[in-house]
Amino acid sequence: MNSKSYTLEDVGGIVVRKHHQAHRISIKLKPGQPPAVVVPRFATFDMGYRFALENREWIASHLQQIDSALKSNIYNEERPFSTRYHTVRFSRCQTRCVQAVKADGGYEMRFPANTDFSSAQVQRQIRMFLTELLRNEAKHYLPDRVAKLAAAHGFSYKQLTVKNVHTRWGSCSAQNNINLNICLMTLPEYLSDFVILHELCHTVHKNHGPQFHALLDSLVGGKEKLLDKELNKYKIQI
Ligand SMILES: [Zn+2]
Repeated sequence: MNSKSYTLEDVGGIVVRKHHQAHRISIKLKPGQPPAVVVPRFATFDMGYRFALENREWIASHLQQIDSALKSNIYNEERPFSTRYHTVRFSRCQTRCVQAVKADGGYEMRFPANTDFSSAQVQRQIRMFLTELLRNEAKHYLPDRVAKLAAAHGFSYKQLTVKNVHTRWGSCSAQNNINLNICLMTLPEYLSDFVILHELCHTVHKNHGPQFHALLDSLVGGKEKLLDKELNKYKIQI
């Protein structure tokens, strides 16, 4: 057994997880996930639970901060941003100007110590960085992926354009030019493949009629409805 669930007063469900590389007990908070207590392999699950119990107030207050950041769509120290390949964290430290440095698994955007993350200007700065990151990832990844999927299923298209729009994951013009949203890089690969296949099917069927759905459904193993539902859980949002 690698993990065990507990309930913590004022917090709710938590998970204590053993990790072979952990040297000490730590608490990991991620938006949309129950708090996780990571313990070294030699420690017991109960030690993890007791650690969480001792830090209950800290956990509860940080969860609240994550919650309100999510609600107001604000990025801050408690709310990082993840693409499929990178996580961007935000921090305040002794720096005079904003810096983005490579950190493990992604980037750290460092702001001066007196930065107010709720300011619109700071959020704009963050979103500009995230947009560029997504655009870069999309430009590296999507052209190859679309070409591969098109070749695998015998589709042809004219041009692929990568865009930052707020309304659609993708579109396909009457001339079979495909537009894809840079936010596809925030989706798991199978869902971004689903969007790409949807647009590729439009090179054959321009509307959403029964033939279109039959074709798309056959390409995703009969899971079109299921995948549509999953995709709807994600927002096009930076
Ligand atoms: Zn469509």
